[in-house]
Amino acid sequence: MSTTVKSAAVSHVGKIRSNNQDSGYAGRQLFVVADGMGGHAGGDIASAIAVNRIAEADRAFNSAHDAEFALQSALIAANSLIAETVFDHPELTGMGTTVTAILRVDHQLAIAHIGDSRLYLYRAGVLEQVTIDHTFVQRLVDSGRITAEEAAVHPRRSVLMRVLGDVEASPEIDTAIVETEPGDRWVLCSDGLSSYVTEEKIAATLKSHPSPKDAAERLVRESLDQGAPDNVTVVVVDVDHTPDSASNPPVTVGSAALPLSFESDAGRKPLRLPTLLLHPLKAAPEDSHFEPESDEYLQELIAEDRRRAIRRRVTWLVSVGLIAALIVTGLVVGYRWTQTRYYVGANGNTVAIFKGVQQGIGPISLSEIHAETSIRVDSLSDFERRQVLDTITARDLDDARDIIDRLDHDD
Ligand code: CA
Repeated sequence: MSTTVKSAAVSHVGKIRSNNQDSGYAGRQLFVVADGMGGHAGGDIASAIAVNRIAEADRAFNSAHDAEFALQSALIAANSLIAETVFDHPELTGMGTTVTAILRVDHQLAIAHIGDSRLYLYRAGVLEQVTIDHTFVQRLVDSGRITAEEAAVHPRRSVLMRVLGDVEASPEIDTAIVETEPGDRWVLCSDGLSSYVTEEKIAATLKSHPSPKDAAERLVRESLDQGAPDNVTVVVVDVDHTPDSASNPPVTVGSAALPLSFESDAGRKPLRLPTLLLHPLKAAPEDSHFEPESDEYLQELIAEDRRRAIRRRVTWLVSVGLIAALIVTGLVVGYRWTQTRYYVGANGNTVAIFKGVQQGIGPISLSEIHAETSIRVDSLSDFERRQVLDTITARDLDDARDIIDRLDHDD
């Protein structure tokens, strides 16, 4: 039995970014998500070049193997096209893009994937991630260094190990052929969805929205509800066995839907002299999350993370030490100050000069008897007795002695 597909593609710039560097394509047999990157360089250009080039492979193939080969070739051609564009426009150096694509041949899908966009299969109520992220943290998870939970909050979770770009002539692309059956729902998305919306939420949304368009729109909305710090692109593909209508006309979304522009815009200001001095043209763009893959580099990243962790710990210990030292210094200075103060009060039934202050800190007294006198409290007038019992603050020791003299003369 032959199968048909119904699909939808939605892309949104998100709530923080000024331009959409994602591109998406939902065609007749081919479905693609690409997430571009590059600071001064244009991630939007990279993803648009890739999606428009790969879309040329949207046709019927005799076998899934042919489709797999064509898809892989299309990604490699897109890689070359990006490199050529950088050659003509050096200000775009360092631009790159992820690509996750599926090409359907009846009940089979050819998959090609590079980067951290994702392909999910939602089948019989269960959501499964089909592609593996080509990220630094995924490598750490694979090698058992960190858990998947730690990866989700790792400071380097956006660092990519592989993309299409101007770095490698033959990028390492994952390809596969998988079976699909009526009722399957395939979801391609950029990390603007998968980094901010949980898989439980994605599964629940797919379950409650039978139409691919509603599902794709709702998933993008879920990311917006999470604040959508990143561009977000979702392509939903439903495999069906009722050939009731012609498949949807191809839809392109995101930056690939716009005419290619190499002119400066909000995201690509013309390079001025100070900028050139700070960022030589060959330097990596500041906004790029791409790090080329090599074992030495990986080891260096791991070592750097370890050094950072140690630095954080040392900084924390030094901060705590400094705060403790400040508190102790404050207490010592404060205590010393109290010991320059005097007052006159009662010690039992005799008047005494006290050194320190009347107030204590909890059970700790901040005063002590400096000098006893022979003046009896019950020999004083009512007024003086009340004053002495309340204590009389002196400016200094001489003043305290004067107060004692006055009390004595009145006697
Ligand atoms: Ca992204």
